[in-house]
Amino acid sequence: MISKLVIEILEDKKKSPSKINIPSIVVAEKINPNTLAELESKNLIGLITSKGGLTDHTSIIAKAMGVPYLINVENASEKIKNGDFLIIDSNEKSVKINPEKETILKYKKIISDQEIKNRKQLLNSKDKAFTKSGKTINIMANVGSLEDGKKAFEYGADGIGLLRTELCFINSSVVPEEETHYKTYKKILETIPEKKCTLRLLDFGTDKKVSYLPVSNEQNPAIGNRALRLGFMYYESLLKPQIRSFLRLSKIFEIKILCPMITTPNDLIQVIDAIKQEQEELNLLGEEINEIPEIGIMVEVPNVAMNPLDFVSTADFFSFGTNDLAQFLMAADRTNEMVSHYLEQANQTVVKLIKDFAKALKPYKKEISICGELASNQSYLKEFIDLGLSSLSVTPSQIPKIKTKILSLI
Ligand code: PEP
Ligand code: MG
Repeated sequence: MISKLVIEILEDKKKSPSKINIPSIVVAEKINPNTLAELESKNLIGLITSKGGLTDHTSIIAKAMGVPYLINVENASEKIKNGDFLIIDSNEKSVKINPEKETILKYKKIISDQEIKNRKQLLNSKDKAFTKSGKTINIMANVGSLEDGKKAFEYGADGIGLLRTELCFINSSVVPEEETHYKTYKKILETIPEKKCTLRLLDFGTDKKVSYLPVSNEQNPAIGNRALRLGFMYYESLLKPQIRSFLRLSKIFEIKILCPMITTPNDLIQVIDAIKQEQEELNLLGEEINEIPEIGIMVEVPNVAMNPLDFVSTADFFSFGTNDLAQFLMAADRTNEMVSHYLEQANQTVVKLIKDFAKALKPYKKEISICGELASNQSYLKEFIDLGLSSLSVTPSQIPKIKTKILSLI
């Protein structure tokens, strides 16, 4: 999709990136998620880098911001000069530098056609979408900020399928306390009233680094001490306050708790025990939390994807994290453009695993959904619906397009 025609005024390198005060495309060797989250989004109209991955968190945040992001542009910072006029074509995955007037006019037309199409699709997205034969699937939103929550509502999300809670605190200078967790999520949940929302426990590590955790010099951080592994290492400061905030929120919102990077059944049992323990402690303080929310797991480690029956008696629901699952299956780092072609070939295998998983769990009637980037790949939409998946969770701006597609399916 051609997202925007952009008049490019390159960032002055001496300025801090958060002070972009004119509409700009930022061109860099690489941008990490922290820097991107800091950038003033109103004036950030595009990103071009030489390094990065299509499913890394910089890409995910850029998508959520609605900012066209082109990666793998060789020597981008040398080729593009301050003041150049640029057009990013996200379809072709190319950048036009100082194009002819004719090209500019062609792209202006493409943009205005696209805007008309977007407006039509938005009309289809307020309600649940059904195929012509009456089948349906929830189209939920992936959210990492209050802004995303507002967009989820605007684009007609059937709920929040994945709240990446770690993104809410990625640039915080201190560890978030229980009250900070509570207030932050409460505001987000209020953007999408009366809908089911799935809150994921913190998944720090790999490309989501924070200043308040010790620097990790791990050789393989994606398969190292991340997510709940890290959470339990710093239980009192990281996980405990978050679990407590979730439990308190469950009294006023319909929420589910999602556990990232579960690898073995014991990992899940450890979380459930911790949640029960916090429930007891909160109740001693007079909170009256009678029921704990459903607790589900991300299916993003091959050991889980291949052994669904090992988890069926303990997990209430399952959500496929196809971004991590693909990187582990293909042995290809999702943040590394040099191996991204492997990830582009992972879809068939991931879909096969989802199918086998759903088949094995059919008698148990557990909810299975997808919240990785594969969820928005329309070539598989019909298969996902026919499999009986309960939801697909995608970047909010993709929702109208997907719901419109559902309406056209048999
Ligand atoms: C995934 O791995 O597919 C996922 C949804 O989680 P994240 O992208 O935050 O790792
Ligand atoms: Mg993941």
